[in-house]
This record gives sequence, structure tokens and C-alpha cells, in this order.
Amino acid sequence: MFENLSSKLNSAMRTLKGNGRITDVNVAATVKEIRRALMDADVNYKVAKEITDRIKEQALGQKILISVEPGQLLVKIVHEELTQLMGGQKQEINLKGDPSVVLIAGLQGSGKTTFSGKLAQYIKKGGRQVLLVACDIYRPAAIDQLKVLGEQVGVEVYAEPENKNAVSIAENALSYARKMGKKVVIVDTAGRLAVDEAMMNEIAAVKAAIKPTEILFVVDSMTGQDAVNTAKTFNDRLDFDGVVLTKLDGDSRGGAALSIRQVVEKPIKFISTGEKMEALDQFYPDRMANRILG
Ligand code: GDP
Repeated sequence: MFENLSSKLNSAMRTLKGNGRITDVNVAATVKEIRRALMDADVNYKVAKEITDRIKEQALGQKILISVEPGQLLVKIVHEELTQLMGGQKQEINLKGDPSVVLIAGLQGSGKTTFSGKLAQYIKKGGRQVLLVACDIYRPAAIDQLKVLGEQVGVEVYAEPENKNAVSIAENALSYARKMGKKVVIVDTAGRLAVDEAMMNEIAAVKAAIKPTEILFVVDSMTGQDAVNTAKTFNDRLDFDGVVLTKLDGDSRGGAALSIRQVVEKPIKFISTGEKMEALDQFYPDRMANRILG
């Protein structure tokens, strides 16, 4: 992941890294190349411009021209800016409440069900009793898929295959969780191929009924700028708490990871890097910046 962006950023900084003759002209040219590298990685224009304007301002402000190692200084500045762009600090999910309720939202195929299984395993490992809830009333296969994952990670799955009302399934699941003393309830919802009004109404109704402590929006990082747009639509409607970026094991150009935080002002909390239940990581902006800068 990010190989392309990495190599382009590094080649953009080559002149200064080589500590050749530094002038304000080649600082400006380098910054321009950094902007181009970000845009090639699918970072939205506005975001790329904002970050490179700041890099330039800082580079000149920190007297990169008279620095002994201008290349090192520039890499440090770019690293800091990338880290800030991705949210600065690592952000935890909110598991307060008894039980705490995590609502999983996103388009069909984004990796919601897979992530629900992974999150269940992750929380279970932390020592809490988890209940997975299958709230996809449109695809019977989705219930089976969640049951298979639940079995794999050793977490009970609540489903009502005959019930076609997502709100009542979610409410019943919550009562069941209370009765059984489960500490965390993860609700996997239905997704459509594109954002549509009926789907948004349904998930908004589920949110209103079960008052989640955490709403996570799952998005396929391979969809580039569309990922950012979809995030915006879901956030306008659901005001979610965090983002899960999936399929970072594919040849995603990374733009979504870099621009989502800036556009929706919500942190990325997890990244998914494969189909296996273990392929889940918390999102650390500084580690991601390290990876990008190689
Ligand atoms: P949902 O429709 O949003 O519930 O999506 P699914 O969880 O069914 O995932 C859709 C497809 O993507 C499945 O084939 C998953 O195995 C696959 N998938 C999910 N997450 C990842 C990931 O991080 N990497 C890869 N390579 N595949 C993934």
C-alpha cells in the first residue's frame, strides 16, 4: 500500500534530500511536486493544496535555506503535516455504557460484515462479552455470513430471519443482550450499492431506536474519491464517530486515508488489511505517515 505515493513523494524531495544547492525557487518547486504526488494518490485538490501551502510556509519559516540538512528538515515537516492531516493522535472507540452499542454503517461490499466479525474478536480479546447482531433484512446470505464469522471468532450472533423490520430486530437484540449480560453489542446493518434514501432512513431509524455509543462508518479505500464523497453523505445523515478503512491490502492509492479526516472531520479508527479475522489494526496517523514516507 502507498508504494506509488511513497516513491513519488521521495522523488519530489530528492533535490533537497541530496542537500544540493537550496534556493527558495527549488523549495517552491519541491512543494509543487509534493502536491502533484498527493493528487496522483487521489488526495482531493483542496486538501492537497492546504497541506502543501502549510509545508511551504513551514519550510521557509524554519529557514530550510540555511539549514545544514535541509532534506531532513523537509522530511520532518512533511511527516508532521501528514500526521496532522490524518488526525494527529490515535482515537479509541467509545465502549462506555452497559451494554455499549456499536452501529456499523456503509455501502454493500465495503466490508461491514467482515469488519463486524473482526471487531467482535478484537473486543472479546479485551475481555468483554460481545453479541453480534445481523440487521441486514434484505440479504439472507448476510445473516449466514455473520453466523459463520461469529462461529469463527467464538461470538454469539443474534438474528431473526423472518423479521423484516430492522428497528425491531435491533431493539430485540438489545433486550436480549441485557438479559444475557453482554457488555458490547455490535449491530451489522444492510448496505446498498449506492447511497439511497430508503437505506439512510432505515439506518437513521435504527440509530434513533438503539442510541449507539459508537457509530462506525466502513468504507472501501479502493474507491478513492468516491470513498470521501460517500463518507460525507453518511456523516451528514448519521453524524458517525469514526471511520474504518478497508482493503488497504489492495493497490489503493491512499487518497482516502489522507483526505477523509480533513473532509468529514471524523477520525479513522481502524484499518482492515485482508479477509482474515486477524487482519485488523487500530489506526495510528504517525505510523501511517512513516509508512508513506518509507
Ligand atoms: P459488506 O457487504 O459491507 O458486509 O461487505 P463484506 O464484509 O461482505 O465484504 C465484501 C468482500 O470484501 C468480501 O469478499 C470480503 O471478504 C472482502 N473484504 C472485506 N474486507 C477486506 C479487506 O480488508 N481486504 C480484502 N482484500 N478484502 C476484504
